[in-house]
Amino acid sequence: MKIQHNKQLQQYNSFRTKAVARLFCEPQSVDELSEILKSFPDENKLILGAGNNLFFTKNYDGLIIKPAMYEINIISDDENFVEIEAGAAVEWDNLVEECVSKGYSGLENLSLIPGSVGASPIQNIGAYGSEAKDTITLVKTVDIKTGEQKEFTNNECRFGYRDSIFKQTRRYIITSVIFRLNKSFTYEEKYVDLSRELKGNLTPSLSQIREAIIAIRSRKLPDVNKLPNAGSFFKNPILTKEEKEALQKKIVDVPIYNIGENSFKTSAAFLIEKAGFKGKTIGKVGTYENHALVIINLGTEDGNDILNFAQEIRNEVDKQFGIILEPEVWIF
Ligand SMILES: Cc1cc2nc3c(=O)[nH]c(=O)nc-3n(C[C@H](O)[C@H](O)[C@H](O)COP(=O)(O)OP(=O)(O)OC[C@H]3O[C@@H](n4cnc5c(N)ncnc54)[C@H](O)[C@@H]3O)c2cc1C
Repeated sequence: MKIQHNKQLQQYNSFRTKAVARLFCEPQSVDELSEILKSFPDENKLILGAGNNLFFTKNYDGLIIKPAMYEINIISDDENFVEIEAGAAVEWDNLVEECVSKGYSGLENLSLIPGSVGASPIQNIGAYGSEAKDTITLVKTVDIKTGEQKEFTNNECRFGYRDSIFKQTRRYIITSVIFRLNKSFTYEEKYVDLSRELKGNLTPSLSQIREAIIAIRSRKLPDVNKLPNAGSFFKNPILTKEEKEALQKKIVDVPIYNIGENSFKTSAAFLIEKAGFKGKTIGKVGTYENHALVIINLGTEDGNDILNFAQEIRNEVDKQFGIILEPEVWIF
């Protein structure tokens, strides 16, 4: 297994910040991965997918492991369902595209989310009312500490809003994920912008849904290759009843979604916009003009510029509304 030294990471994070990893490797199988873990028991380790949800503010003094398992296999197939195992390195949207083209439903709403299959359970990726957890049946991993293989059923993954056991513990390297997809499909009208894009078609095919979502996302989100970014920078804040009421006193029209007993969600994008940060630029960093939650890199190679800008947003939202925004993006 080839270990690379002093590897430049600029191309490996979607903010395109510069940093060097002392050691870097791309294991192509579980065996190679286990071998690496045995060879470098004492190194700090960081697992890298496609780098769309993280950026670097400094060099990484340790070993970066970028899983390179690319296989896709059908592991069960009956009249109603199909189970597909996809390797960690498979590009997420390629998997979605393949499933949609075969008429397997369940992933179509997650079209065009950039990243790898291996990262999809980490923050339980979600969009348009769907989350990775809705179709995942099993996650195969290797324990970063012991090198042992361990499988997690859907329940054991402890999925939540942009959350999972993998995010909480950072102990498991995901090597493949098994998804259970439906061979039939009925469209339920839930999203105004999706309905609008479908132009009144109440019985769209899976491909039509995918195309509509791709069209909306392409309009709403900046192209990573032109304006480096990591998607939503902050999570939508979760509030208790008391916090919700305090916020409503400050902003009468704040959007609030009831998500459980004494649990409410509000929109981070709305708060950032209200705080005056939509489309705002400081130096070489700003927020996207069409989406206040997306921080864009306008020419810096130093992750600290992005970190400082994000901190300015946090301070202002806290000062004006008493809400502490938590980053969705990983900062190293
Ligand atoms: C333009 C844009 C739009 C986006 N839209 C959405 C959206 O709609 N919904 C959404 O949920 N997210 C969205 N994201 C965020 C991002 O696409 C997801 O978080 C995606 O899962 C990141 O995948 P990745 O392979 O790039 O992960 P990385 O950024 O490489 O890694 C993310 C985290 O997962 C860990 N990790 C990665 N692979 C593994 C593995 N195999 N085993 C263990 N740990 C691992 C890393 O250590 C890191 O902590 C968007 C990002 C961008 C740039």
